[in-house]
Amino acid sequence: MATMTLPETEVKDNKKSTTKYVYSFGGGKADGNGKMKDVLGGKGAGLAEMTNAGLPVPPGFTIQTEACREYMKTASSSKDVERQMDEALAKLEALQGQKLGTGENPLLVSVRSGSKFSMPGMMDTILNLGLNDKSVEALAKRSNNPRFAADSYRRLIQMFGNVVLDIEKHAFDEVFDAKKKQKKTKLDTDLDAKALQEVIAEYKKVVKKHAKRDFPQDPREQLVMARDAVFRSWQNEGAKVYRRINNIDDMLGTAVNVQAMVYGNLGDTSGTGVGFTRNPAIGTKEFYGEFLMNAQGEDVVSGVRTPVPILELQKVMPDVYDQLREITTRLEKHYKDIQDFEFTIQDGKLYMLQTRVGKRTGLAAVRIAIQMVDEGLITKEEAIFRVEPNQLYDFLVPRLDEKSTKVEVLATGLPASPGAAVGQIVFTADEAVKMAGHDTAKKPVILVRAETTPEDIHGMEVAKGILTSRGGMTSHAAVVTRGMGKCCVAGAGDIDVNEKAREMRVKGQVFKEGDWISLDGTTGRVIKGKLGTLDPSPDDPELQTFMNWADPHRKMKVRANADIPRDAIQARAFGAEGIGLCRTEHMFFGEEKLPHMRAMILADNEKDRRAALKKLLPLQRKDFAGVFKAMDGLPVTIRTLDPPLHEFLPRREDLMVEIATFPHAGTKEKKELLKRYSDYGAKSVGDLKRLLSTLLARVEQLHEFNPMLGHRGCRLGITYPEITEMQARAIFEAAVDCTKKGIKVLPEVMIPLVATVKEMANQAAIVRRVADEVFKEKGSKVEYMVGTMIELPRAALVADEIAKEAQFFSFGTNDLTQTTFGFSRDDVNKVLPTYLAEGILKQDPFAALDQEGVGQLVKMATERGRKTRPTLKVGICGEHGGEPSSVEFCYRTGLNYVSCSPFRVLTARLAAAQAAAAETLKGEGGRTK
Ligand code: ADP
Ligand code: MG
Ligand code: MG
Repeated sequence: MATMTLPETEVKDNKKSTTKYVYSFGGGKADGNGKMKDVLGGKGAGLAEMTNAGLPVPPGFTIQTEACREYMKTASSSKDVERQMDEALAKLEALQGQKLGTGENPLLVSVRSGSKFSMPGMMDTILNLGLNDKSVEALAKRSNNPRFAADSYRRLIQMFGNVVLDIEKHAFDEVFDAKKKQKKTKLDTDLDAKALQEVIAEYKKVVKKHAKRDFPQDPREQLVMARDAVFRSWQNEGAKVYRRINNIDDMLGTAVNVQAMVYGNLGDTSGTGVGFTRNPAIGTKEFYGEFLMNAQGEDVVSGVRTPVPILELQKVMPDVYDQLREITTRLEKHYKDIQDFEFTIQDGKLYMLQTRVGKRTGLAAVRIAIQMVDEGLITKEEAIFRVEPNQLYDFLVPRLDEKSTKVEVLATGLPASPGAAVGQIVFTADEAVKMAGHDTAKKPVILVRAETTPEDIHGMEVAKGILTSRGGMTSHAAVVTRGMGKCCVAGAGDIDVNEKAREMRVKGQVFKEGDWISLDGTTGRVIKGKLGTLDPSPDDPELQTFMNWADPHRKMKVRANADIPRDAIQARAFGAEGIGLCRTEHMFFGEEKLPHMRAMILADNEKDRRAALKKLLPLQRKDFAGVFKAMDGLPVTIRTLDPPLHEFLPRREDLMVEIATFPHAGTKEKKELLKRYSDYGAKSVGDLKRLLSTLLARVEQLHEFNPMLGHRGCRLGITYPEITEMQARAIFEAAVDCTKKGIKVLPEVMIPLVATVKEMANQAAIVRRVADEVFKEKGSKVEYMVGTMIELPRAALVADEIAKEAQFFSFGTNDLTQTTFGFSRDDVNKVLPTYLAEGILKQDPFAALDQEGVGQLVKMATERGRKTRPTLKVGICGEHGGEPSSVEFCYRTGLNYVSCSPFRVLTARLAAAQAAAAETLKGEGGRTK
């Protein structure tokens, strides 16, 4: 795991001339190549590769990531870095026949960050570096275009001021907007040279005021400052958060690319654009992208002007278009993957500025992988790695129908919770409830907030989707919506939400309550207007094809956690090969069962308890029969009763209030109260008074300070053996009945929260005795197993002992994480955000298995258990069973299966297939990260 300080041994001081810090590219050849992403970053490696391939790339050099790592340690760049940079600059100047920022034909460069993985949050690119009061005039003269020169200079001051000198963007925007107003123009391009010169003068004042220094006139000083700002930006908050979410090593560092400028803003035969070789949203094979004439750099994506679809370029400049298609097709063939590229046209001549593997949705990933196999670009084995397991989720949630209307993206935030949502904007939770209405079919609303808090829950509940302008992937909105399975775009920073005025502003447009927007939680896009939606498509034929390629590689089974037949059927449709966890307590929450369950808990003697359990038996038997039927032929792991009993009773505080207010209650209130407590056997208002105090007494008896460590799990079945007896009876009666009907039943009875072998022996004895009784009564037998959940560190330590009694282990990693860390899962959010921000934990251990710690217990218990019982079946049934990195860990640890929620079964199948295939294929395989 990454830390920010390197071990002493790795801090080498005596490397003098040994390290090559700077790699040049240009003139048809490059020092580096496309494979060197670790060293040159993705952008630098791409520039080198394109140069070597003879493509038109403006020349330059890349300062490699090692220089960044050293900068992190020493907060400065070494003499070697300085010297090599100066040499590379001299080489570039010679090649171009220009000098940086001086002379009649000054060299200008861009300074661009670029790490191994493309990563938002780092320093923005600086263009036109080298311009100063003198060279701007030279540029004006040379280009015979004073407007272009002034425009380039004002852009430099603005970008440099913002990203190097940390001056807020709006300080510059204010000046620019004021100038446009003064000149009564709308577009940037309408400002003439004189107006831009005035802007420059104002910009310099802004710099002086905020940075307390003048804009640096010395080109080399500009370059050094920009370079170091790129290094520092590796540690920006946004960059850190992105790395944490995507599990990217903090020690990689970023490279710096310095590249000769080409100008897309020279006039009407110049322009700039971006594109993809295939459609990254839906995967169709089409040239896809946008461009703008007379524009520079990020104008295309920034929304100042509306860009034009790339196919239009064919009309405007057919030769350039053909060349671009030819080059990008070649790039795609070369990299054997969809390319995301940037280009600039200077006076009719095309330059390539970037190419990288294109990010795509899950849907597109599957389709493109299949296309590329069909085209012979990649093998089926390679195709398996072209889809991130989590991306398969896209097939299980609704999507936007991109063809239904014109798509205008207003902003892009974080893809916090996948799926699509289309609805009318509301700005408060109360309004959301009001506007959604009380019918079962709610009116579609999108709740838009700066950020959400627990007070917004009722609004989030009824909303189709949530949009926030602040907050990250672990913000309240993100976490809650993922839990609800509801679409959410979080942290869309370009949107200015004004909850008081009930409006949001973005891209110069104002949206009010009731306006329609569409959210794509899968890509983070916020789209204007009312798009159509497409239903989830778990039986998409291309998905089937893809899974048919992946599955044969898999060596580990994938099961689902499902408590009721409906979920079991669903899970089976997604390819579950059994049930790894059937939680019986959920079965007791049904309307017909709760009264008996509560009577059982209220009973203060065995006789009454048995009477209540007797009523539960047929109901529970029916539940099990349903699940067995759904899983005909596949194993079903049933866990005996686990939660603390108080979960079935009212809250102590509520009861106290009810008792206190009862004497003063009116007839209507009393009737309501009676209804609420009829489950507990209250038949008349007269019963109520006594019942409430009996209930309170029982609740107080059951009250525990740490219920998660309390009277639960096998401790229940040991103190009240009749509960385990009833459950075992229900299981075996259902099993025998099903078998008689020709259903193949493979029950695995699982005892929870075992810490000692004697606990296990105690419960296993009950289960086996009841099984024998049932088989005798019914004159028929079924094969079954009795095993345990490993969810306490002690159980992992004495797993060899426990395996004497248990025929299988299933790691309950939710509890095992709680008990190993001593974190309560329900309260961990008080500390977790700080722990993540401080880097104390790299990931939420309840989301991704803590392999270092909890993982050791898993490994140890598996080994020790199998020492005693070589045939021991081992699986995992915690949340982690559907998380790709944890699935991979389970594979390496030799588990027989993972079990996860039905909606993660596809993900787990692919993760397990990739884990196994990676061993044989050694595929970095072109993962899309
Ligand atoms: P990002 O990583 O955010 O894409 P880039 O470094 O690719 O940032 O650059 C931002 C914009 O500036 C892109 O549109 C890119 O094409 C443009 N750009 C970068 N370097 C140059 C250059 N030397 N000449 C012209 N445009 C450039
Ligand atoms: Mg950028
Ligand atoms: Mg770029």
